[in-house]
Amino acid sequence: MSDLVELSAAQAAERVRAGEVSPDELFAAYRERAESEELGAFLTVSDSGADDLAETPLAGVPLAVKDIFCVEDVPTTAASRILAGYLPPYTATAVERLAAAGAPMLGKTNMDEFAMGSSNENSAYGPVRNPWALDRVPGGSSGGSAAAVAAGLAPWSIGTDTGGSIRQPAALCGLVGLKPTYGSVSRYGMIAFASSLDQCGPITRDTTDAALLLRHLVDGGHDRRDSTSVDFPEPIELPSAERLDGVRFGVVAELAEADTIEPGVKALFDQTLARIEELGGSVEEISLPHTEHGLSAYYVLAPAEASANLSRYDGVRFGMRAGDGDLLSLYERTRSEGFRAEVKRRIMLGTYALSSGYYEAYYGRAQRVRTKIAEDFRAAFDRVDLVVTPTSPSVAFRLGERTQDPMAMYMSDYCTVPMSLAGVPAISIPAGLSDGLPVGFQITGPAFSENRMLDAAHALERAIGFDTSPPRRGAQAVAT
Ligand code: GLN
Repeated sequence: MSDLVELSAAQAAERVRAGEVSPDELFAAYRERAESEELGAFLTVSDSGADDLAETPLAGVPLAVKDIFCVEDVPTTAASRILAGYLPPYTATAVERLAAAGAPMLGKTNMDEFAMGSSNENSAYGPVRNPWALDRVPGGSSGGSAAAVAAGLAPWSIGTDTGGSIRQPAALCGLVGLKPTYGSVSRYGMIAFASSLDQCGPITRDTTDAALLLRHLVDGGHDRRDSTSVDFPEPIELPSAERLDGVRFGVVAELAEADTIEPGVKALFDQTLARIEELGGSVEEISLPHTEHGLSAYYVLAPAEASANLSRYDGVRFGMRAGDGDLLSLYERTRSEGFRAEVKRRIMLGTYALSSGYYEAYYGRAQRVRTKIAEDFRAAFDRVDLVVTPTSPSVAFRLGERTQDPMAMYMSDYCTVPMSLAGVPAISIPAGLSDGLPVGFQITGPAFSENRMLDAAHALERAIGFDTSPPRRGAQAVAT
């Protein structure tokens, strides 16, 4: 059974179809690993779910699900104390669609509280360790979903990305992470952080698995329960490109040259550009002049939306309740004991930015920057087919290294936030190792160009030949 967990999800599905392993056996093998893991990646593990799924499109290959997705009668906390004890009465569309396609839920994964963070250290239920180096973070906010796949505790997973939370942890854990075009995947049942940015997507060992999950996430099209969801204009194909002949890549000068990019990350970025040319693609420098303001705009807009979205946690309707009887103390104590520091910081930032007298100066201006960034991307895609950047300025950092410095933490999103603001899709693939730690390469394209983006990522993935198994995988994590 141990060799099974080395397979990609698509390969595991092949074994099921060939009758070499049953969906139940596969589920049991992963469940055993997920139950005994010591990375802190899982918050709950499901008892069963495989039934007879061998004939389904995803053949019963189990799926790890970020704990931000509501699942009927399964504890769902978004890694917050304030949702302790909450049992949703319904299931998120994303989880429902993947289960219907044959990927039963293996369990719920740890994350930064309400998806706010870049290291998974903001979870109320403890941090997650990076399987590549146990004293380092897996990235965030979908840190549990990434660590679980990298450590072979789950064949694949889904996360959510508001400003980088799928791509950055995928990069730091040596995996593929895809944030789809805004609106392609229904947000119904996904606990809201910043609704105009939040998007669900896959974290996987390779681009084929990413395409498979995305195919079934968008299949079914518009969800009447999420008015921002749209019909994806074409089916998602499994990527097959081996060459990049004629594909024009734009290197974003402002992001690739930023002095926040570590030399090891930059070196692998440049190596990947050379591979693009070897495969027949062309590389030219482009400018996205407003991207340098992306982070500032994001850290006004996302907290503004979060402050409104999180007002519903008042001790009356969901999860935990604290207080001494009167209504005001119920609100105050529930929120002060229920939320941790980063969530409170965002609520205060957002409330301030939206307050009368400051609204135009902050929120209004950030919205205009957002429009400018979207226009920058449109102009770039008139010249090139795809745009590339490093995914994260650094490799996985040490646990505790950035917890006292919110600005340093926010800088992790420097290269991923612009695509979120523009609503365009982006994928991170592993480019190689820098001092034994994975480095991600980000490819982004126009809205709904996922097939083209996946094809380019596939050709590069083949050329790079990255081994997604950390040296210690299999050996259960022991704190160093
Ligand atoms: N790290 C970013 C933040 O803290 C992005 C989080 C996300 O994409 N959910 O807001």
